Amino acid sequence: MNQRVEIPGLDSFEVRLYLKRDDLLHPIISGNKLRKLKYNLQRAKKEKYTKLLTFGGAYSNHILAVACAGHEHGFETIGIIRGEELQNQWKDNPTLKRAFAYGMQLDFVSREEYREKNTKRFVEVLQTKYENPMILPEGGTNALAVKGCMEILTEEDASFDHVCCAVGTGGTISGVINASEQHHTVLGFPALKGDFLKADIATFVKRDNWNLISDYHFGGYGKVNEVLVNFINTFKKETDIPLDPVYTGKMMFGIVDLIQKGHFQKGSKILAIHTGGLQGNIGMNQRLKQRKMPLLEI
Ligand SMILES: *Cc1c(COP(=O)(O)O)cnc(C)c1O
Repeated sequence: MNQRVEIPGLDSFEVRLYLKRDDLLHPIISGNKLRKLKYNLQRAKKEKYTKLLTFGGAYSNHILAVACAGHEHGFETIGIIRGEELQNQWKDNPTLKRAFAYGMQLDFVSREEYREKNTKRFVEVLQTKYENPMILPEGGTNALAVKGCMEILTEEDASFDHVCCAVGTGGTISGVINASEQHHTVLGFPALKGDFLKADIATFVKRDNWNLISDYHFGGYGKVNEVLVNFINTFKKETDIPLDPVYTGKMMFGIVDLIQKGHFQKGSKILAIHTGGLQGNIGMNQRLKQRKMPLLEI
């Protein structure tokens, strides 16, 4: 569903902005994570896997998505979680607590070990320890995930000029690019620093009607400041649409800033993808509170 977004003060720029409400696809499994899991779950069933294993940080939307999907589809789930220190504190973490409630077995590893997660040796250790689970990469990005994300755009989206998407690992935007029309410009808003994303996305796509806008990561992955929190709270007040501070908040901040800077021609129609991520807002508020910062209104 595409929802028109009207923000006071942007009228004079004469662009039309819409949000594709993929956040409403499922109550728990964050918008794009459901898309990314769809064909992976089909493969797991077809190949008779009984267990799904994946990786993530303490507030990962993907971890909770896999836990919930496993629960719904009858797979055991294992989450390899970054940070040994969480071993004794995970019950205070809303994301991990919910993942556990969906039956996910949590395995905490050090940051050094976590960095090894894609090595042959570590994968073999996990295959043996957990008896041949289907292993999904961090963030869930693989070719089947990209295929699932091609379903984000539909025929009715052909009338847009620009399609905007938050970028983490690049799987979601890759699907969007592959499903886009030649006249679309697909703009990615990375939620983290790093030049590797462009090359990663290029491995999945065959088109060149896309670009990454790297000015709105707010210092890196999961980093937030008061300006961003205030923007998200104001956006919610004005549009009644909640955003998350890790991905969609940064993207939308970037889009509004670009509109105000005249980046989009008058008459342009812009579609932004709301990829979800709202489950993380509870955990983010815990951290904001500790740092005595303004909280997200949720
Ligand atoms: C994971 C996530 C993304 C990033 O998706 P990638 O496919 O990793 O680029 C964007 N938005 C939200 C809400 C997410 O949870």
